Amino acid sequence: MLDMGIIRQVNSGMYSLLPLGLRVLQKLEALVDSEMTKAGAQKMLLPILTSATLWNRSGRLKTIGSELFTVEDRHKKLYVLNPTYEEAICELLAGIIPITSKDLPLKLYQISRKWRDEMKPRLGLLRGREFVMKDLYTFDTNLENAQNTYNKICESYDSLFKQIGVDYVKVIGAAGIIGGSLSHEYHYLSDIGEDTVLLCQSCGYSVNSEVLNLSSCLKCNNNLSSHSAIEVGHTFLLDTKYSKPLNATFLDGPKPKPLVMGCFGLGLTRIIAAVVEILSTNEVLRWPNNLAPFNVCILTPKKGSKEEIAAPYAEQIFGILNELNVDTIIDDRIHLTIGRRMFDANRTGYPFIIVIGKTASNQNPMFEIHDVKNSTRIDTNIEGIINYF
Ligand code: ATP
Ligand code: MG
Ligand code: MG
Ligand code: MG
Repeated sequence: MLDMGIIRQVNSGMYSLLPLGLRVLQKLEALVDSEMTKAGAQKMLLPILTSATLWNRSGRLKTIGSELFTVEDRHKKLYVLNPTYEEAICELLAGIIPITSKDLPLKLYQISRKWRDEMKPRLGLLRGREFVMKDLYTFDTNLENAQNTYNKICESYDSLFKQIGVDYVKVIGAAGIIGGSLSHEYHYLSDIGEDTVLLCQSCGYSVNSEVLNLSSCLKCNNNLSSHSAIEVGHTFLLDTKYSKPLNATFLDGPKPKPLVMGCFGLGLTRIIAAVVEILSTNEVLRWPNNLAPFNVCILTPKKGSKEEIAAPYAEQIFGILNELNVDTIIDDRIHLTIGRRMFDANRTGYPFIIVIGKTASNQNPMFEIHDVKNSTRIDTNIEGIINYF
């Protein structure tokens, strides 16, 4: 990703997303937005800084330790650069009075940068100190309703991961710095993963080894297999762990009751690094088709070549593909040979490459469509391109 100009390192664990990288993130965000909207969640945006007073009230100012980034303002007031937002969202709801049971369930999420002063930032976006997370917070009247909401959001996660299309596993999760009574994690199996998940091939039981480190399946006694894995999502049923100390309540009768919460994280920049790791080779980047920075790359003839006369077809094909909602880029670095640009397009991992080459200047102009993943090529005319896409 560094070599191909997708990201660039700025500090340890801090990266700029360059234009292609940002496109990938935006595509992932759009998939997440669509799943969240289907689940009845509303998008919002909270400030990066939260007063340390709130983190004191939840008790986490002390318990998180040196992973927490803090800053002080000119009045010596301390703020937390949020690694997660339970305190901030509870404070928001505590200020909205009265919330009644009729307003619930309430589901609020944001997609924003989170900060964690990780001991060992590594492998680009995989473990950053600044990273993009989608965090959803849900609020219900009681534990049973909160559990229903929890199950529904887990279904949304399944739907999202199926759309990304890389095999994943859902395991019983470790509560970690967030806590709560029930939690699941979503993992991609990969040798570079820092977690170990234990899977039962017989009954499907699966657990993070941080929770239980066993070799007999708790459910059916068969052997568990152990796999390195990348944690890409984490869901928690929090109950009233944060709403109580932070006074996030609702009215149901005369007395206010604490809201029953769930929270649901998805590491968006980590998902990007993980799917690239799983799909790519040492030589070339590969993406799920729906996350590739562009779906089609059009290569125009080299300046001064015999084929140059066919160059205007690039704009025509570009226009047609746009109308078909196929996002397309033209590599018009016409000082470079088609071969050289083909090499780059292949390495960048655009799923399809269209070459305006030798046969494009014929009476019946023909163009090459390369299916990069399947290493196949067909030659076709404009009509054929429309049918293909
Ligand atoms: P890890 O075990 O890898 O340190 P975590 O359990 O501390 O992650 P959570 O608090 O569960 O992370 O945060 C929710 C999600 O945010 C994680 O499932 C992961 O996808 C993502 N995430 C957490 N830390 C990072 C990081 N340093 N860089 C990128 N993504 C991260
Ligand atoms: Mg962590
Ligand atoms: Mg973890
Ligand atoms: Mg976690």
